[in-house]
Amino acid sequence: MLEIHQIPILSDNYVYLVIDRITGKSACIDPGVADPVNDLLEKLQINLDYILSTHHHNDHVGANLDLKKKHNCKIVGNFYDKERIPGIDIFLKDGDCFKLGESECKILEVSGHTIGHIAYYFMNEDFLFCGDTLFSLGCGRLFEGTPEDMVKSLSKIRALPDKTKIFCGHEYTLSNAMFVKKLEPKNKFLEIKIEEIKKKREENKPTIPSILGEEKKFNPFLKFDNNIFLEKIGIKNRSIVESLKILRQMKDEF
Ligand SMILES: [Zn+2]
Repeated sequence: MLEIHQIPILSDNYVYLVIDRITGKSACIDPGVADPVNDLLEKLQINLDYILSTHHHNDHVGANLDLKKKHNCKIVGNFYDKERIPGIDIFLKDGDCFKLGESECKILEVSGHTIGHIAYYFMNEDFLFCGDTLFSLGCGRLFEGTPEDMVKSLSKIRALPDKTKIFCGHEYTLSNAMFVKKLEPKNKFLEIKIEEIKKKREENKPTIPSILGEEKKFNPFLKFDNNIFLEKIGIKNRSIVESLKILRQMKDEF
């Protein structure tokens, strides 16, 4: 059993504090800043055992060293990022398992946004912490990886159970929704979804986690091989990789 606390930081980042209820072991995922994490740990009266890093960007690892110094926690990340994730102690790679107390998670390498980006999938709960790879109604920008990398990564995520909860690194849902609406202006179901998103944001509630099954219905970046959808938005006779590349370019230029 996992307990999850979602901490909004900076303008639109989410940090997560995950606690294994059986053993009390705790991990902080992608702490960009330290203060709100320390405040929560103090409120809960717990120490921090681990930091799980998804990728090396500063808004995800900015507080690694401060938190390590204060809590003497171990920092976990991809072997590939051993020079780029501050304070890294435990090196993992695709397919490895990491145990947070009694809760086990599988490491998925999901390169694209960066090379060596990883996601943490807690199998028993179907919780996925995917950093900046998949967002609700969007995906990460391709800063380091290729469209081919991103297709592989999104395919891995898409293969998880529909009920998987997607805990991503940013609250970008509403702006992503505007792009999706432009692609599919006549989609009534999308219209309803956007109203729900707007209502949540007006009430200052997070739209994250989202559910993978819903993402499969509405997220264009999970439809890179859906020819009916692609033709509808003007992408014809292209390979899967080219389709994803064009989609990503359309979003970059939106
Ligand atoms: Zn990033």
